[in-house]
Amino acid sequence: MRGGFNTRAVQSGELRDKRIGTVVTPVFQASTFMYPNPEPGALVDKIRGEPFIYTRWNNPTTQALEEKYASLENASHALAFSSGMGAISTTVLALARRNRKILSVAELYGQTYGLFKNVLTNFGIETTFISIDQLNKGEFDPRGFDLVYTESIINPTLKVSDIMKASEITSEAGIPLVVDATFASPYNQNPLDLGAAVVVHSATKYIAGHSDTIYGLAGTNSKEYFDAMQEMRRMLGSTPDPYQSFLVMRGVKTLGLRMERHNENSTRIARFLEGNRRIAGVFHPSLENSKYHSVGRKNLRGPGGMVSFEVSGGVDAARSFMRALRIPVVASSLGGVESLVTLPIETSHRSISRELRLSLGIRDELVRFSCGIEDSQDLIDDISQALESI
Ligand code: PLP
Repeated sequence: MRGGFNTRAVQSGELRDKRIGTVVTPVFQASTFMYPNPEPGALVDKIRGEPFIYTRWNNPTTQALEEKYASLENASHALAFSSGMGAISTTVLALARRNRKILSVAELYGQTYGLFKNVLTNFGIETTFISIDQLNKGEFDPRGFDLVYTESIINPTLKVSDIMKASEITSEAGIPLVVDATFASPYNQNPLDLGAAVVVHSATKYIAGHSDTIYGLAGTNSKEYFDAMQEMRRMLGSTPDPYQSFLVMRGVKTLGLRMERHNENSTRIARFLEGNRRIAGVFHPSLENSKYHSVGRKNLRGPGGMVSFEVSGGVDAARSFMRALRIPVVASSLGGVESLVTLPIETSHRSISRELRLSLGIRDELVRFSCGIEDSQDLIDDISQALESI
């Protein structure tokens, strides 16, 4: 399906069967399918070029979503997973087979860091860590590694990866660059167009968008990587359930509309916070004094819906600010239609030592705000009253 982002989000991939008259792709809540199925007109699993067999291999609802996502990601191949971690673990296990060595930025989502540092090592796969600033300056040598791994926008400090620059180096060395683009979403960034080899998402966040399902997606233009990843998915069983796929299919249709509002709300809130006397620092790629502003302009079409900030007066002040908020829910996760707010030291970065946290730029009083799609003035008024109440 050709057309703009929203046209593709709504129309691509839908499984419309004129015999039944389906407008919306049905949930094929089935573990197994007729096999062998000699029916000449049978619907074909595009991975195998034969009728569907078994849902761990693939399922028509899931494959319809994979096609829709592929069209939004400008990817020739896409795979769906039972979670973002399912997408990440399956992808790296599929790619880290030759030298069993990964080169990764250190400022990763906590569980990805744990997977690389504590789990993969048990299987003989070693990860060497560099900082995102080293990646952005091109201070790394990918030769000898199976893959280079980064995230588009880093949690919670919202540093931005220079995928264009990093991929020049990885492409020249013939090593795949894998990008977790969860915080950007396909609306704000298509890493494959910037030179990455594989893109992965926690679709739990913006892509599904309603804080009601866990899901992962991956896209690539390489048949070789795709074949390795789909085989690994089949072996590990990280395939999603069809009903999960149905929910994500429904959510992703409004991704473009939601992201426009997320982008606008986070930008307006960041500007408001920047000038507030009770705020010691604001992290947002749209701000001109951000170190990542120009990298963001080059690599992102929009900043995403996250904004992080340090409340003056330390962690107690940050906690009372959060208690006084009336609209956002205090919860981990992000990317849903409702605003969520969290203290990273209590959630995503709880298990990391204070010393390491501070070295990553995460102070105790850092608040992470996932802007929903509520009216921005209501959010700003709420933040304003909560700051005044400290
Ligand atoms: N990647 C990033 C950047 C995330 O923020 C998360 C979850 O918060 C994940 C991956 C893991 O995704 P999931 O929870 O869908 O497994």
